[in-house]
Amino acid sequence: MNPYSYHRADSLEDAVRALAASPDARIVAGGTNLVDLMKYRVETPAALVDITRIEALNGIAETEDGGLRIGALVPNTVVAEDARIAERYPLLASAILAGATPQLRNAATTGGNLNQRTRCYYFYDIKTPCNKREPGTGCGAIGGVNRIHAILGASEHCIATHPSDMCVGLAALGAEVRIQGPNGARSIPFADYHRLPGDAPERDNTLQAGEIVEAVILPAEAEAYAAHHSYLKLRDRLSYAFALVSVAAALDIRDGQIASARLALGGVAHKPWRREEAEALLVGGRADEAAFAAAATSLLAGAEGREHNGFKIDLARRAILRSLRQAAAGTPQSQTDKRIA
Ligand SMILES: Cc1cc2nc3c(=O)[nH]c(=O)nc-3n(C[C@H](O)[C@H](O)[C@H](O)COP(=O)(O)OP(=O)(O)OC[C@H]3O[C@@H](n4cnc5c(N)ncnc54)[C@H](O)[C@@H]3O)c2cc1C
Ligand code: SF4
Repeated sequence: MNPYSYHRADSLEDAVRALAASPDARIVAGGTNLVDLMKYRVETPAALVDITRIEALNGIAETEDGGLRIGALVPNTVVAEDARIAERYPLLASAILAGATPQLRNAATTGGNLNQRTRCYYFYDIKTPCNKREPGTGCGAIGGVNRIHAILGASEHCIATHPSDMCVGLAALGAEVRIQGPNGARSIPFADYHRLPGDAPERDNTLQAGEIVEAVILPAEAEAYAAHHSYLKLRDRLSYAFALVSVAAALDIRDGQIASARLALGGVAHKPWRREEAEALLVGGRADEAAFAAAATSLLAGAEGREHNGFKIDLARRAILRSLRQAAAGTPQSQTDKRIA
């Protein structure tokens, strides 16, 4: 590893000041992604700002308008096991439990999971070109091995996918990201938090310099999806593997009709992939195969396969249909018994 300075911040203000003092600084929380990247010399920060002692980033609490606030430092395990999350937002618990291993989920934090970097092999290998790691050097994956790469929203500069499971659940639930930074506090709707690569793939999200994720807010209205949801993750091994394709499906079914719907895909784009048009196709009708097929076609509109990842388009379509069936029937994908029913 390269030498770096280390500052353990004792408040949010202190952390924001420390980040401003060293533009090349990185925030460290659980360290399960950042420290790996430092060992591979993908990340070579001049300074680390440790936020793990900041009390304001802890805890899960009710918001004034009936939602829940999850502090950025709350470990993934704690979120997934919280009784309020399990009862009101079980889709989020399921998405988190589909990720990594119990040991990793104990160390991984909400803010770190949101900001974890792509698992593109070329990004991790500093001997290969990568526009995300080193802008302007090219993309090793486009003409290389691209089995795990994006089929939606990619650009000629980068075809990486966002690796998080938790974020796919948060996208479907319409969460909001609370930020603190040099210009004060602000909120970003989840759909606008992660970026598509465009011509600046080195930027994963819309955080500005020196900003810190303080919390994620789950809106009260997303409780409507508690009875009919499913997080379906398809991967090469049953556990301890990132998604080739994942689907978060959430339906609010009243008197046999879909009152509202959310669908988000993981493993297919630089961010959790949602299209309101696809969701709108489900609303107002019954939860049947014709509606599911129309939504899948719409959500996958424009999907493009490359040499090794073309299979993902059909895989995603089938996964959307299966996840919607599971959600409609109220029989969500189990994250302990991972066999696909
Ligand atoms: C072997 C392995 C398998 C895995 N499998 C999966 C999987 O299947 N699904 C999945 O979703 N994840 C998986 N992960 C990823 C894991 O979930 C992430 O590493 C973890 O969530 C990151 O959290 P952390 O607190 O350790 O972050 P850190 O490593 O501390 O930080 C990660 C990034 O987030 C930034 N950051 C941290 N906190 C904040 C904040 N509050 N504000 C702004 N930026 C911040 C850091 O600067 C850094 O860039 C796996 C990881 C490993 C090592
Ligand atoms: S897909 Fe993106 S992350 Fe992977 S090599 Fe290309 S530019 Fe780098």
